[in-house]
Amino acid sequence: MKAIDVVNDLKRRFPAEPEYIQAVEEVVSTIEDVYNEHPEFERVNLIERLCIPDRIFSFRVSWIDDKGRVRNNMGYRVQHNNAIGPYKGGIRFHSSVNLSILKFLAFEQTFKNSLTTLAMGGAKGGSDFSPRGKSDMEVMRFCQAFVAELWRQLGPDRDVPAGDIGVGGREVGYMYGMYKKMARENTGTFTGKALEFGGSLVRPEATGYGNVYFLLNMLATRGIDIKGKRVAISGSGNVATYTAKKLMALGAKVISMSDSDGCIHVPDGLSEEQLEYIFTLKNLYRGRISEFAEEYGCEYVPGGKPWGYPCDIAMPSATQNELDGDAARALLANGCIAVSEGANMPSTPEAIKEFLAARILYAPGKAANAGGVSVSGLEMAQNAQKQAWTAEEVDEKLRRIMADIHAQCVKYGQEADGYVNYVKGANTAGFMKVARAMMAQGVL
Ligand code: NDP
Repeated sequence: MKAIDVVNDLKRRFPAEPEYIQAVEEVVSTIEDVYNEHPEFERVNLIERLCIPDRIFSFRVSWIDDKGRVRNNMGYRVQHNNAIGPYKGGIRFHSSVNLSILKFLAFEQTFKNSLTTLAMGGAKGGSDFSPRGKSDMEVMRFCQAFVAELWRQLGPDRDVPAGDIGVGGREVGYMYGMYKKMARENTGTFTGKALEFGGSLVRPEATGYGNVYFLLNMLATRGIDIKGKRVAISGSGNVATYTAKKLMALGAKVISMSDSDGCIHVPDGLSEEQLEYIFTLKNLYRGRISEFAEEYGCEYVPGGKPWGYPCDIAMPSATQNELDGDAARALLANGCIAVSEGANMPSTPEAIKEFLAARILYAPGKAANAGGVSVSGLEMAQNAQKQAWTAEEVDEKLRRIMADIHAQCVKYGQEADGYVNYVKGANTAGFMKVARAMMAQGVL
C-alpha cells in the first residue's frame, strides 16, 4: 500500500481517534519521499505495521477513596513498536486520557526514541484518573491498583514506563514499589525513580534542559545568542519549570508560565526567587499559577495562554494542540524567531504550517523534548550496571545526545536553500532507523 493510502485507511478504521490520526498524518506526509525510494518497504507493508501499535492493554482500575467509596478508572498501556529495543514511554494520569491520545503519544515516542541513539522502542500508558485534588493516600492506592493490573506486561527488557503529565517522582515511586512487590525483582523497571532506589541524577531536569540544549543548537545555525532573549513558556510542571531554570541560568528572560486554569505575564522576566516560588507551589503544595499572580501582583489571565505576548522564543511545555494557527500568527507578528517544543505535539498542523512558511527555527517535540527519555535510557544503563553516574557525566551525555539529534535533523531536513525543516529531518531520521530494524527482523 502507498504511504498516503495507509493514512486514508487508518482514518476509515479509527474515525474516533483524531490525535492518533493527526500524529500519523504528520509523520507519513514528511517521509513519503524517502519511503517511495525504498520499494522493499512497500512489499512488506512496512508503513502500516509501523503505524498500528504492536498491542494495547486496557483494563479497569478499581480503588478506594478516603471516604471509603469504590472508584473506577480506565487504565491503558500501548506497546507501539519494539524493533530497536524494549518498549519505553511514560504514563499519563489526566482526566482527558483516552486511547486516541495514548496511541498518538506511543507512535511519537517510537520515532523520538529512535532519534536518541539509544536502544529503546516506543510505548505509552496512562489513565483517566486525575491526581488533582486527591490526597497522597488516594494517589498511592490508585497507583498500586494500576500496577497490580499492568505489572505482568512490564520488565527491564520488556517494557519500562516513566512519568508524564500527572505522573512525577511521587507516582513513579508508588508504582515502582508495587511493581517490585508483585514481580519480586529489583531491576529498575520504571525510570524517573528517586535517587535512593536507582534513579538517575539529572532525570527530573532532563526534558527541560534537553529542550534548551536543542534550542541552543538551532540558534547557533543562525549565530543567535540566547542571552537577553524573551521566552514564552506554557505549563508550570516538570518540563516547563526546568526549561525556565536552564534558560534563566543562560541569561534569557522567562516572561510567562501557565497551567490549565490560566496564564501569568511577567514582561521583565521571572526572578530566581519567583521561579523557586513556582517550584514549591507546584511540587509541594500542588497549587495553581493564579496564586503566584496573587503573591507577586503580576498580570494573570484566567483561561489564557502565553502566545499573545511579545517574545523572541516560544517553548510550549504543557499539552497537545495548545498552540493553534491564530496563536502561531500572533507569535510571528510579535517577532518570534524560534519555537522549540517541550510538550508532545503542542502545535496544531495549521500552526506548524505557519512556522515553516515563515522560515523560523521550529523544532517538533519528538526531537526537542527527547532529552527526558534519553536520560531515562541512561537510568536504565546505570541500573543494569548497578552503578550511579555523576550529574556532570549525565549532563554531558545529555548535551551530546541533543547535539546528535540536532545533527540528524539537519542531515535529513536541510532544504536546497539551506533552511532546516526539523519536522522532516526528525521524522525521516527516526523512521529510517526503525524501518531498517523492522526489515532485518522479518514480518512479526
Ligand atoms: P506535568 O504534569 O508536570 O505538568 C503539566 C503542565 O501542563 C501543568 O502545568 C498542567 O497544568 C499543564 N496542562 C496539562 N494539561 C493541560 C491542558 N489540557 N491545558 C492547559 N494546560 C495543561 O507534566 P510534564 O511537565 O511532565 O509534561 C508536559 C508535557 O511535556 C506533556 O506534553 C508531556 O507529554 C511532555 N513530555 C514530558 C516529558 C517528561 O519527562 N516529563 C518528556 C517528554 C515530553 P495543571 O497543573 O493545571 O494540570
